[in-house]
Amino acid sequence: MSATTAMQTDKQRSFVRLITRSYAQLVLVAFALVPAYLIGYLYFFQDPGLKFENYPFHEIAIIGATFVGLFVTYLAWQCYRSSGEPLLRWMTLGFLGSVLICALHGAFTRSAHQNIWLLLLYGPASRLTMSILLLIGLLSYQRPSDPADRRAGAKYLLSWTAIFLVVDVLVALLAHSTVAGVILLRVMETAALGFSTLSVVILMLRRPRSPLMLVCGISVMSFALSSVAFLLGSPWNHMWWLAHVIFASGFFLLSYGVAQAFLTTRSFATIHSREELNARLAQEMDRAKNALKEVHRENQKLAHLAATDPLTGAANRRHFIACVETEVVRAQRDGTPFSLLALDLDNFKWVNDAYGHQVGDTVLQGFVRVCLDAIRPYDGVARVGGEEFMVLLTRTSLDAALAVGERIRATIASTTFAGELGRKVSITVSIGISQFGRDGRTIDALLRSADERLYHAKSQGRNRVAID
Ligand code: GH3
Ligand code: MG
Ligand code: MG
Repeated sequence: MSATTAMQTDKQRSFVRLITRSYAQLVLVAFALVPAYLIGYLYFFQDPGLKFENYPFHEIAIIGATFVGLFVTYLAWQCYRSSGEPLLRWMTLGFLGSVLICALHGAFTRSAHQNIWLLLLYGPASRLTMSILLLIGLLSYQRPSDPADRRAGAKYLLSWTAIFLVVDVLVALLAHSTVAGVILLRVMETAALGFSTLSVVILMLRRPRSPLMLVCGISVMSFALSSVAFLLGSPWNHMWWLAHVIFASGFFLLSYGVAQAFLTTRSFATIHSREELNARLAQEMDRAKNALKEVHRENQKLAHLAATDPLTGAANRRHFIACVETEVVRAQRDGTPFSLLALDLDNFKWVNDAYGHQVGDTVLQGFVRVCLDAIRPYDGVARVGGEEFMVLLTRTSLDAALAVGERIRATIASTTFAGELGRKVSITVSIGISQFGRDGRTIDALLRSADERLYHAKSQGRNRVAID
């Protein structure tokens, strides 16, 4: 694909994404407005005089809502205790307040005949309470969490319960006073509508990305629309019942949000959008991959360290034996022999005594370099003692091994290593060689033979290679 075509495809993709996002938002708004269509339908096509005056139905519905409301209050409170989010504290109070006030709306159902205001005023009072407390909650959204030790205790809830009971008494007093009437009812309902609308506007302006805040937005929209329905309806007619249903659906939707918070992070703010979660997941997977690579690299380093001699970089005895074991298996399988060289620097103690230990170390390092130059990359040099080394020559017979040993010996004999104050250090090496097959078929036998020959080389005057 050419660069221009790729750019065009990218542009198309981002255009389609933009359209899709706008479409999804439109569907959400349309969904949040479903109660408005129902209100419109009843307003234009129903006889407002039609009534359904059923007391038990009203009572049972409110008893059920009261129990559910208390349960949701408990869930919201638990979420708040865990996350400390002020929004959840206010939401808890919203649930508790609306439930405690709405319960009396149900309790006074049958007082409709003696004093209709006793029944009617508790409705807008509970919605007003909910809308005010939710608005305060939304204004505190994403404020810092309350500190863990100051997360309000049961006393806080009890004092608010007392406030709500005082509101209950005040509403009863109002219902018995001369101000009780349609105007008061409408003023309270309009105030509830105003506060809920303000909450919707705030939510739309803030565009929170947490899906629970979306749930919260649709719920508050329902509260606002239920107030509209209550303003348009009159007691017991269908608009009045529909208003109850709209408020209840908002209430239950919000309780769904609280239940989700309870089951997940116990927070309204830290439940992330799916896009955000995907991005985080990709980031975490990248991090995990890199960490794995790093672990692999470290493991390789550790394996290298565990297999090498730190002074000379040659293999250590353990690693060398493992390599020879593998080579024994291979040689037994295909019959091609291999050879081992046992090397020991001659009179090395004297080098140390004459030039110092540090110069001795430099000579040991130089010696390993010479050995490595003399062998093939897949052969190996190991330091098996202070100034004792072994070389493994894979697939190599004694003759060829003798040539390699001779090359090492001659190179060492003719090499001068740098000593202190520009002094040159010369050294020689004695070597014993064994070959798989000729000198045995086990590691022990082969090591023993090579050592015996090394001893021969030493006893015959050093600086020589012995093969028998
Ligand atoms: P031979 O020809 O019989 O092998 O004589 P030699 O002096 O080499 O043998 P000997 O075993 O008596 O001495 C080995 C010396 O190697 C003694 C010790 O100080 C030295 N040596 C062992 N390890 C190290 C090391 O890591 N660094 C240095 N500089 N010297 C070491
Ligand atoms: Mg020695
Ligand atoms: Mg020695």
